[in-house]
Amino acid sequence: MTDLPSTVHAILDRAGPLLVDGEWVDAIDGGTLPVFDPSTAEELTTVAAAGPKDVDAAVVAARRAFDEGPWRRLSPGERTRLLWRLADLVEEHAEEFAVLESLDVGKPIVAARAGDVRGAVAVLRYTAGWADKLEGETLPLAAPPDGEYHAFTVREPVGVCAQIIPWNYPLVMAVWKIAPALAAGCTVVLKPAEETPLSALRLGELIKEAGFPPGVVNIIPGFGETAGAALAAHTGVDKIAFTGSTEVGRQIAHAAADNLSRVSLELGGKSPNVVFADADLERAIPGSARAIFTNAGQSCGSGSRVYIEEPVFDEVVSGIVAEAEALRLGPGLDERSQLGPIVSARQLERVSGYVDDAVADGATIVTGGARPELPGWFYRPTIVTDVRAEMQIVREEVFGPVLVAVPFSDYDDLVRRANDTRFGLAAGTWTRDLRKAFRVVRDMRAGRLYVNCWSVIDPALPVGGFKESGWGREMGRAVRELYTEVKAACVRID
Ligand code: ADP
Ligand code: MG
Repeated sequence: MTDLPSTVHAILDRAGPLLVDGEWVDAIDGGTLPVFDPSTAEELTTVAAAGPKDVDAAVVAARRAFDEGPWRRLSPGERTRLLWRLADLVEEHAEEFAVLESLDVGKPIVAARAGDVRGAVAVLRYTAGWADKLEGETLPLAAPPDGEYHAFTVREPVGVCAQIIPWNYPLVMAVWKIAPALAAGCTVVLKPAEETPLSALRLGELIKEAGFPPGVVNIIPGFGETAGAALAAHTGVDKIAFTGSTEVGRQIAHAAADNLSRVSLELGGKSPNVVFADADLERAIPGSARAIFTNAGQSCGSGSRVYIEEPVFDEVVSGIVAEAEALRLGPGLDERSQLGPIVSARQLERVSGYVDDAVADGATIVTGGARPELPGWFYRPTIVTDVRAEMQIVREEVFGPVLVAVPFSDYDDLVRRANDTRFGLAAGTWTRDLRKAFRVVRDMRAGRLYVNCWSVIDPALPVGGFKESGWGREMGRAVRELYTEVKAACVRID
């Protein structure tokens, strides 16, 4: 740890308390949680873990900040300015965030800089621009009973938002959640994942520095079953936004149902990636490798099932194998690392369990399938063939660097198999034939479609899923639906 930048040492030493009502406070019952470096499996630091009392204090603070202001009385332009200020501050501290993200998640620092931190800043700036564009509509009444009316809608902030995020892109997820809520004039209680609280806590410091009023953003790391469950069930919450596993998403939906709070969910995926024989394989092969191995496969939109047209099956599989075997595994902070570890020992066990079960079921490992000789929670990039549609490795989200490769020959059969999943987050294809490309876009039941690319995440593009991949869309214009209530006003004027 000694070669860390001193700013990061300082952050690790400081990281600890919860941000509640604009103050850094310890957990009321003294709860803490350990933070590990997945690249070494060593403990980095401990931070406060919110319990139900802290959750309550944070919701009360957010409630007061929403109901009593001054937040609600700020002009939209002022909210834009504050979000831009926060974007500037994150950008100024970009290297610190990249190091924190790399330490906490294990991701390669190069990716943390270019993907996570840059992406977070872009989302803050893009979303800032929505604050003063949340307009309503003027509506001619369709069948007025009598008289003359002027009718219109206005959009108002939905209120106190409980936001629960996962560990795979901690800073990006925090920003995806808080930026649109703040743009709309909501207040927030953000619960980072217990595995990765560090960047959200640093973001909390910058939120204070930017000048957001106390209570507008509360940040409370804590365990899912305690803090997360208490937050989702809290009656002071108007809206819950959750990103994470489908299993927990279902529990969140139940909690939301009890209070009839609004809820949006961004859940798991098992996304099909289709390589046609006519594709530019020079791009399709590395692109398909990146689609799964980026972030060690820990992305909800990973292209974890690749369907390859028969004539090029062997060529594409051996190409992806070569890409996988060329990836340099190593600790996040090593500039040369291209593939980091899995976030936790528990997650590593899940990933290897799926692969071991597939082998026991008769699948073939073409590469990987084991841990390398490295101290942290690493797993080799893995490609599995000879699978049957009913195998878990084909059906379940592994959330690791594990790709299933399947040959196809008939297009309709391909579509049936690609859509034979309870998920519907992303799908994509590689082809030079426009008709095939648009057919895939038409036929896949998924919220995000990629042609000759993968995982282009842009603040303007809505993200969300069909089927069990979730409810609602985040980013882009979707902010309007997620974080506002529509009020219809009717004025009699005759
Ligand atoms: P994973 O299994 O990959 O850790 P989860 O869906 O469990 O993914 O975690 C995503 C987020 O959901 C984390 O912030 C976690 O603390 C939170 N969480 C987990 N269980 C619950 C729960 N029962 N209620 C609310 N939040 C939860
Ligand atoms: Mg969990």
